[in-house]
Amino acid sequence: MKKIGITSTVPIEVLMAAGYQPVDLNNVLVTDPNPERLVNIAERHGFPLNCCSWIKGIYGVCLEYGIDNILCVTGGDCSNTIMLMEVLKLKGRNAIPFAYPDQPDPRRMQSTLQSLAATLGTTLEAATRVRDELQPGRDLALRLDELTWKESTVSGWENHLWLVSTSDFNQDFHKYHRELQGLLEVCSRRQPYPSEQLRLAYIGVPSVYARDLYRHMERHGARVVFNEVQRQFAMPEPGESLSEQYANYTYPYSIYERLKDIKTELRRRQVDGVIHYVQAFCHRGIGDIVFRDAIDLPMLTLEGNDDFFLTNHIQTRIEAFLDMLARSRRGIKYKQQAIS
Ligand code: SF4
Repeated sequence: MKKIGITSTVPIEVLMAAGYQPVDLNNVLVTDPNPERLVNIAERHGFPLNCCSWIKGIYGVCLEYGIDNILCVTGGDCSNTIMLMEVLKLKGRNAIPFAYPDQPDPRRMQSTLQSLAATLGTTLEAATRVRDELQPGRDLALRLDELTWKESTVSGWENHLWLVSTSDFNQDFHKYHRELQGLLEVCSRRQPYPSEQLRLAYIGVPSVYARDLYRHMERHGARVVFNEVQRQFAMPEPGESLSEQYANYTYPYSIYERLKDIKTELRRRQVDGVIHYVQAFCHRGIGDIVFRDAIDLPMLTLEGNDDFFLTNHIQTRIEAFLDMLARSRRGIKYKQQAIS
């Protein structure tokens, strides 16, 4: 299968129906042994220092990994991708634009999908057959998610890793299914994490230092039981058709669509506190104002740029936040004991 890079989660069913193997360029960037090198390539080619590292990194991935075809999400994700696409064209790449409709409307989604299928030389009927093939993998990912918050047998990092990977199923959905099935068997034999552990939500785009972040929080008595955007990648509301599935996928639309999902899950998963991750120089960081107004839980906003590990400064801020949450949880418990 010919590879096609994707700059964000897209209707991969259409790409696969057209004979392409989707490659999530973000996942390639963070799993590269030296992601800083890929960001540096973009800077040497003229990308400004104050441009988001994801954009620069995926540019470096395209060049270093020889990705010739790229589906660039120009609407519903990131306006920087428009200019990234122009530079990729300049470098001789076949960069194809894809824009989500500005409203989560299945009819408009249907026509967006039809025009993508026509561009790539396939049909929505063929893409629907691929959707059926991918569904067992998505079901397993959502089962892992359920085990994370209901049974407490899955770590926040595992939850992040397997959900974020559903954007391209690590380029091999059969292998993904097999390996995840193996992990679920391991989880079924595990003891649950202790109930005293703090329960956190992670909202916002996946972080550049995810590998360190989840482990650091777990070492300090807290586990992420809700990864907002990563869970959306697994299509938790598939609906009856491809167009419903991608209209129900909240990430490309208004922040208020995301908030409905976030608030439901915060209640359901009994979350103690929220980590909101923002990427330096990203317009989505402004959404912190809306989240802080709408979410009635303690929130820590963390920013990442081009450090693919946790700096001491961020570690200290996380530890102070967790300490505050633990004290407030103990305070509530004492008050309840005093009343009863
Ligand atoms: S983090 Fe923000 S600026 Fe960077 S690629 Fe994503 S949406 Fe664009």
